[in-house]
Amino acid sequence: MYTYEASAKLLERAKQSLAGGVSSEFRKYNHPHAIFYTHANGSRIYDVDGNEYIDFTLSQGPMLVGHNHPHVVKRVEEYAKNGQLYAGQHVLEIELAEKLQQIIPCAELMRFCLDGSEAVQTAFRVARAKTGKPKFIRFEGHYHGWLDNVAWGLSTPSIDDLGSREHPNVFPWTAGLPAHTADDFITLPWNDATLLRQTIQEKHHEIAAIITEPIMCNNGCILPIKGYLQEMRELCSQYDIALIFDEVITGFRTALGGAQSYFNIVPDLAIFAKAMASGYPISAIVGKRDWMQLIANGTVIHAGTMNSSNSTIAAAIGTLEVLEAGNCIEHIYTLGQQLMEGLRDIAKNTNNNILVQGLGPMLHTGFTQLPAVKDFRDVLTYDKVKLGKFIAGMHDNGIRVIGRGLWYISAAHTTADIEQALTVASTILKQI
Ligand code: PLP
Repeated sequence: MYTYEASAKLLERAKQSLAGGVSSEFRKYNHPHAIFYTHANGSRIYDVDGNEYIDFTLSQGPMLVGHNHPHVVKRVEEYAKNGQLYAGQHVLEIELAEKLQQIIPCAELMRFCLDGSEAVQTAFRVARAKTGKPKFIRFEGHYHGWLDNVAWGLSTPSIDDLGSREHPNVFPWTAGLPAHTADDFITLPWNDATLLRQTIQEKHHEIAAIITEPIMCNNGCILPIKGYLQEMRELCSQYDIALIFDEVITGFRTALGGAQSYFNIVPDLAIFAKAMASGYPISAIVGKRDWMQLIANGTVIHAGTMNSSNSTIAAAIGTLEVLEAGNCIEHIYTLGQQLMEGLRDIAKNTNNNILVQGLGPMLHTGFTQLPAVKDFRDVLTYDKVKLGKFIAGMHDNGIRVIGRGLWYISAAHTTADIEQALTVASTILKQI
């Protein structure tokens, strides 16, 4: 049973200088409070109390090849010794862009940024500029970063607060949002093709873009209903709307070319980030030439002092080389499936109503009576108290899972890691 005294002490000290003791809001919500780590390697991460965890959070997704992968480290060390940032171009950027062109179906042109949030905003700018229309459609339960026009509807209300499916209520996630940013978008429940079609038929003259996580990973791990993404694709083409896939989570993880490769649906624009560079700050907005042309010719401005620094580009190249060389993605799927099946068996044997959903590379465990969960309104039926006990019990016994029940698998995980996680899960679930 783990204890966390050293982390608790450091947190008190950190609160005197770092607002809330952390550098990102989400880091407050570890169990039992923000934890301070010392190092991480492969599938393992270690904290200041000497606790060792098998890490299924993978730093909220980025560590697809595992922590501290030697090839990525080597690539960064080799290239960063030339300096870090030139306010000018360097050759490795072209190599990375050419690699991404080969593996991501819609990536005819691209720009590199620092994180998913700003790349999302760049995509909106391109969509508005090309279509001359002001708004985007987004979906309940999807997360597209923390900036103003997407920081709505992210707190978890009750189903009643959400209002009707046709006209959902959205609430600000944070104080300080300009009220007018709520006019930038229309919110809809996800996985409902009829409602989407009706809305677009009615309002297409004001809709520049639809943004979607192609798999809803931020609430549950929910696959699109058959035909749904295809319908989206067709509506966007018909009504001059940009289809934007937010592949910040699905990128490189569902397939090297992202969910667009996996589902064979090609969006107009897409955002890749998290798993791209093993924790180095880089993202990409990629897209079809006729959309990205607006950035190429300077109609749409995209900039950033820190973009495409030597170490971030080298880390991305190194990560892709690791992914391409081995059978990494196959290995990740195999382990993910093993974990999903194991968790289902344990749930049955311990009489727990646990729904395990996902693809394998990422999966979700939620306590619910529902046989399947298809949208955010269903997600709100999950028993959060039970989930909290499960996550805390796992954590106290060396298995680190994201608090909302999401698990990520990396190429560094082993069958033994999965077996250990299942053994702990079995013990904890008997106690819940
Ligand atoms: N889009 C999705 C689907 C995400 O999951 C996230 C972050 O979790 C973002 C965008 C924002 O990315 P970042 O945190 O890199 O700004």
